[in-house]
This record gives sequence, C-alpha cells and structure tokens, in this order.
Amino acid sequence: MLKIAVQKSGRLHDESIGLLKECGIRINNGNGQLKTIAANFPLEIYFLRDDDIPQYVEDGVADLGIVGLNILMEKNKKAATILPLSFGQCRLSIAIPKNKIFSDLKDLEGLKIATSYPHILNEYLKAQKIKAEVHEISGSVEIAPGIGLADAICDLVSSGSTLFSNGLKEVQTILQSEALLIGGENLIPENQIILDKLLLRIKAVLKAKNNKYIMLNAPDHRLKAIADVLPGMKSPTIVPLAEQGWSSVQSVVNEEVFWDVIEKLKALDAEGILVIPIEKMIL
Ligand code: ATP
Ligand code: ZN
Repeated sequence: MLKIAVQKSGRLHDESIGLLKECGIRINNGNGQLKTIAANFPLEIYFLRDDDIPQYVEDGVADLGIVGLNILMEKNKKAATILPLSFGQCRLSIAIPKNKIFSDLKDLEGLKIATSYPHILNEYLKAQKIKAEVHEISGSVEIAPGIGLADAICDLVSSGSTLFSNGLKEVQTILQSEALLIGGENLIPENQIILDKLLLRIKAVLKAKNNKYIMLNAPDHRLKAIADVLPGMKSPTIVPLAEQGWSSVQSVVNEEVFWDVIEKLKALDAEGILVIPIEKMIL
C-alpha cells in the first residue's frame, strides 16, 4: 500500500483529489476524516495541513505528498520533487508600500521584512548580498506594513489584488511556484511498482490536458503541407473522403501552439475543423 499526503482543505485540496480521481482512483473523502483508503487502487490518502506534508514524507509516514514548491523549499526536509503537476501556480514576492520608491534590490538594505517564508527569504537575501531584517509571522502578512510591524513583506501572490487593497506594490519575485508530487528517499520495491503505475496515470492525465484532438477536411493537393503543420504523436491520420480529391485529417495538437496551428491550417484551405478534448494520453 502506497501512502500519499494531500492538503486537508485549502487551495490545493480540490485539484489534488481531482487529479487522483481523473487517474481512475476512487476516493471517499467526506466526513472530514484524516485518512482514507482508495476503493480500487492500493493507495492510502492522508489529509493534512500543507505545511506538515514535507515532514511526514521525510519521516516515511507518507511515501508521497502533494505540496507547492514554496512549502517544499521553505521546510527544507528530505523530500524531493517527483513531478510538477501544473496547478497551484503562484509566486513568492517582495512588496513594499505603494508610495515608497524602489529602483533596485539595494533599496531593501536595512529594511524589516515580514514573511511566513523566513528560510527562502534569508537564502535569497544572502545570495543577493542584501542585509535586511527578516521578521517571521505566520499569517496576515500583508497587513504588517500598515500596522507598523515591518517596512516590507515577502508573501505569496497570484493576481496581486490582495497586495493592492493593502496599499502595497510588488517589487521583486523571488520564487515561481506550482504544486508538486514529492517523495521521500526509500520506497520498498512493492511500493515502487505502485508508484510507477500511478505515475503512468498522472502523466497521461496531465498530457491530455495539454493537448487537443483535431479533425479537419482538406483538398488532397494540400495534404503534404498540412501534415508538416500537424506532427501529431507520430504523423497525422489521413483518410480519403467520399468526395473525390478531399481527405479527412486527424491529429493531436499541443495547447501552447494551438491557435498558431489553426491559423496555418486555415491558410492551407482546411475546412470543417473540429477540436475535441482528450481524456487520457498514453505514449
Ligand atoms: P493549510 O491550512 O493547509 O496550512 P494554507 O492556508 O497554508 O493551508 P492555502 O492558502 O490553502 O494554504 O495555500 C496552499 C498552497 O496553494 C500554497 O502554499 C501555494 O503553494 C498554493 N497557492 C496557489 N495560489 C496561491 C495564492 N494566491 N495564495 C496563496 N497560496 C497559493
Ligand atoms: Zn499552510
């Protein structure tokens, strides 16, 4: 049985459980329970505060965990990234009151900076050779300058609206974070086999999210040029249509280049373009 720790409630909870469910793992996580065993996969799930997850992984109480890179780095435990999971994106940034001037990092010299990330911030300041006073507080960091507790803060940001409504401006990003699957050092062989199965499923789910299946009709004299635009998994599938001189083309396109590809296909006389979500993608 493999054991995985996920956030009990908060920003990472839903997507962590959602990912496992998309992997076909049935989890009953009602009733605020602390742990549960999946119905159809040898996996036990622990529900914990995200801050505690790296320690549980280091101690081997959990074999795996899902936490943000911010927590993994801050806690600095014996736990390593196995796979980035493409959700929970945010950044750890330094912010100062809006009316203060900031031209470069030297302006932080001598300031008192409030944060829940003292370890990451101290390492960053040391690397940048800035001497500032790091003041650890556990929550509501963004109000610290307003109540005279600090001159600046270092906190997580996604849209920046919390900073703005507290009269702060972001001046320096020190870490880009996302949710990670993390693991400890020693897995018994039996659990390594389960982990490999789980990883195959997670990768298939993540890959499918980043790709779309595309179908279109094209005149035969354009097929060569269209195939060059659509590399697909191997090469596109091309099937003749009942109408002479036309074919149906099917392929897989990555989300990042998607609109670019569509424009090129239109320019190559593609018609009736259909785009279909992919549920799983196993390579
Ligand atoms: P817990 O009770 O588990 O300790 P928490 O209050 O520390 O919860 P959340 O606010 O739920 O934590 O955030 C969990 C993680 O979500 C963060 O550590 C970070 O990796 C990620 N995250 C994504 N976007 C944001 C954001 N805008 N602000 C804060 N965290 C974010
Ligand atoms: Zn937390």
